[in-house]
Amino acid sequence: MINDNEKFDVIVVGTGVAGLFTALSISGDLKTLIISKDKIENSDSYLAQGGICTLKEPSDFDSFMEDTLRAGRYENREETVRVMIENSPMIMKRLIEYGVEFDQKVDGSFEYTREGAHSTYRILHHKDVTGKEITNKLLNNVRSRDNITMCEYTKMLDVIIEDNTVKGIVILNEGELKCVYAKEVVLATGGIGGLFAHSTNFRHITGDSFALALRHNIELENINYIQIHPTTLYEENFTRKFLISESVRGEGAILLNKAGERFVDELLPRDVVTEAIRKQMEEDGRPYVMLSLRHIDDEEIHRHFPNIYRHCMEIGYDITKDDIPVTPAQHYLMGGIATDTYGRTSVKNLYAVGETACNGVHGANRLASNSLLESLVFSERAGWIITEEIGEVSLDTPEVDRSLYADPEAWDEANKNLVMEEIKRRDRDFYDKWCNS
Ligand SMILES: Cc1cc2nc3c(=O)[nH]c(=O)nc-3n(C[C@H](O)[C@H](O)[C@H](O)COP(=O)(O)OP(=O)(O)OC[C@H]3O[C@@H](n4cnc5c(N)ncnc54)[C@H](O)[C@@H]3O)c2cc1C
Repeated sequence: MINDNEKFDVIVVGTGVAGLFTALSISGDLKTLIISKDKIENSDSYLAQGGICTLKEPSDFDSFMEDTLRAGRYENREETVRVMIENSPMIMKRLIEYGVEFDQKVDGSFEYTREGAHSTYRILHHKDVTGKEITNKLLNNVRSRDNITMCEYTKMLDVIIEDNTVKGIVILNEGELKCVYAKEVVLATGGIGGLFAHSTNFRHITGDSFALALRHNIELENINYIQIHPTTLYEENFTRKFLISESVRGEGAILLNKAGERFVDELLPRDVVTEAIRKQMEEDGRPYVMLSLRHIDDEEIHRHFPNIYRHCMEIGYDITKDDIPVTPAQHYLMGGIATDTYGRTSVKNLYAVGETACNGVHGANRLASNSLLESLVFSERAGWIITEEIGEVSLDTPEVDRSLYADPEAWDEANKNLVMEEIKRRDRDFYDKWCNS
């Protein structure tokens, strides 16, 4: 329960790994509110499967750096990448202290895995549910903190800004419009998948912070740098798209057009395969192409892809016998609200962390499994700097014109249009291909 006009030291918007880790990284003396638009657990962080990158030994530094820069087409900010890699062992230590369990080999050492574009094994994981493991453990720790109030089904409608300084947020909580004030506000609302017809993201992750950035002139960067995953399961409704991992193609699955013919080398880079599928869908006049796993041994499917097997079976496809329809879908946003390496935005006392932030780590394209790490490193640093600087910040409670939010649905629709128009303005070609359906 949040009271109208209630005051906090810090408000964190979002309960994914970035929001939770920020809340845990600020001092236990600070009265903190953390909210989520939906059920607390419904964040994209919870869905992360593959794992989290780390610097497993100092000698891997240069190669980790080069892999990240190459994936980002050298548009990354090198200083930010350096900060991320240098801090990664400390983050893993912290996660383990919070109770996170990573898979280990029989001798007790960590089992590192590898994904596309990594030149070595440097990814820690918890089976194929790493995000769930990390998010759950962070949540347990947040719940044990007396200084933190956590509220679900509470939606941020707006940020309150005066003289380019944040003062609080406007929320919908228990059906009521309320203003809540704070010295510092952290935006950790994730990406923009919910704005796309096809996305692996939760539907309620709709880039609200970016619309507010556009409304309030908060600096955005590379909002059109959006990663599309080539193969997600096509289902004829608007629910979240289920990811069909690239490793399925690595093990021999093939893509087929309407005539049952192969039309692309399945192991080409992600963006090339995505473009080939898009063109083929246009030619076939269908919103999907088919993926066949029939060349993979049944035993291998059960051993290597139990989750994909189970999910497809639930909706009527036995992947050991049936081809499945797949379609490219929005997956991740590299751009976002421009920040420095402490999550500071262009508005005073307003921070952005996680997928909401663009701190330059990913450049034009994200290296697989760098996003959980990036979220954690920079949300911890935001927590530190907030704790250090909050003593000098005053708590003000300016009047808010509540009539602006009389029709929340119209407000949301306008937000969506603002973000989509901005993507269109920055990259018409991308917009026409991926946003206009
Ligand atoms: C299927 C899938 C698999 C992935 N696998 C990996 C992987 O293996 N490794 C990896 O590193 N990354 C992976 N990622 C990416 C990674 O999970 C995300 O980039 C990262 O977890 C983002 O964390 P976040 O805290 O920034 O946002 P999220 O976890 O998305 O959390 C956003 C939060 O903001 C809240 N919110 C949004 N809008 C509002 C609002 N207006 N008011 C109040 N609350 C709001 C949401 O309810 C939610 O709590 C994967 C992503 C997906 C979708």
